[in-house]
Amino acid sequence: MASTQPFSLSPASLQRRRWLRLAAGGGAAALGVAALVGPTGWAQQLGDFIEGPPVRDIPARQLSPHVWMVFAQDGFPTPQNQGMMANVLFVVTSAGVVVIDSGGSLQIGQMAIRMIRKVTPLPVIAVFNSHYHGDHWLGNHAFAAHYGPQLPIYALTGTREKIQGAEGNLWRSLMERWTNQATLGTQVVAPNQTVHNGQVLNFGDVSLVMHHYGTCHTPSDLCVQVVQDRLTAVGDIAMANRIANLDDGSYEGTFKYYQALRTSAGAQLWVPGHGEGSTDLLQTYGEFMAGIWEPCLKAVQAGAPESTAKAAVLADRRVARRATTMQGFDGNIGKYVSLAYLEAEKLAF
Ligand SMILES: [Zn+2]
Repeated sequence: MASTQPFSLSPASLQRRRWLRLAAGGGAAALGVAALVGPTGWAQQLGDFIEGPPVRDIPARQLSPHVWMVFAQDGFPTPQNQGMMANVLFVVTSAGVVVIDSGGSLQIGQMAIRMIRKVTPLPVIAVFNSHYHGDHWLGNHAFAAHYGPQLPIYALTGTREKIQGAEGNLWRSLMERWTNQATLGTQVVAPNQTVHNGQVLNFGDVSLVMHHYGTCHTPSDLCVQVVQDRLTAVGDIAMANRIANLDDGSYEGTFKYYQALRTSAGAQLWVPGHGEGSTDLLQTYGEFMAGIWEPCLKAVQAGAPESTAKAAVLADRRVARRATTMQGFDGNIGKYVSLAYLEAEKLAF
């Protein structure tokens, strides 16, 4: 599995490295053009014309009467998988196809369209973006290009604003970097419609209920419930076999979100953006998260240092039993203990 290191690169360090690489490669001449390099410089203009290669077909699998999934095998982006690291779901309704998360590039979105067309001749009539991490929405470009710029793309307000802002373009360039430019040509197409918790949207014979209960994996995680199928797409609030990025998230918020979602939606097939869906996904991932959170909270309350908290987390059976098989565990567990410890400190003082 690929190194998860790129996920810890800050925007500033990324820009600096790119600048340094270009400057070092071209010597004095490059220094003259270095000022042009960046989101508005020639590097991006070049990217607008050069497209990375197509992504190999991944036939869609039916999960329920209306819902299909284009499954992402890997949890992290590499040049080999070309950024195919998040599931693309689609709902075939009598009125057309509704896509939930559009993939991590133009090329992945194009592949998803090919897979949809193998299942149904109906057009895509709406796209939902679960949150602002680029592996879930950079494929919007393909859908807007194919079905027209009027295609409704729905998200929570926070997600829409982040994608419209610097975060959108940052994700575009990060994905290019992680895939060694395989996603070149992808443009940021932000959501153009806003949804909120409790909203019901009807598409033909299918009703979709919107869920959002505060900060979880990010401050704006949308879960989409496909009412007739008792299936809910949960984005990244829970993962089957991958440790979640929690840089903008909250442990406490995660437990609260799960409780509110369960109360509102009832028993569901919970389908994550990474890995397989299951009816006990919130239960199993929630136990793992509690195995990180509770020892950290205890350590903070006892005045013990972070190293003590980390040892307790690694010894916790809820964490230990997942450690050897979970994608990204070794590279990320230290960071997520730190985040839990920090959040516990804030809570305690
Ligand atoms: Zn995410």
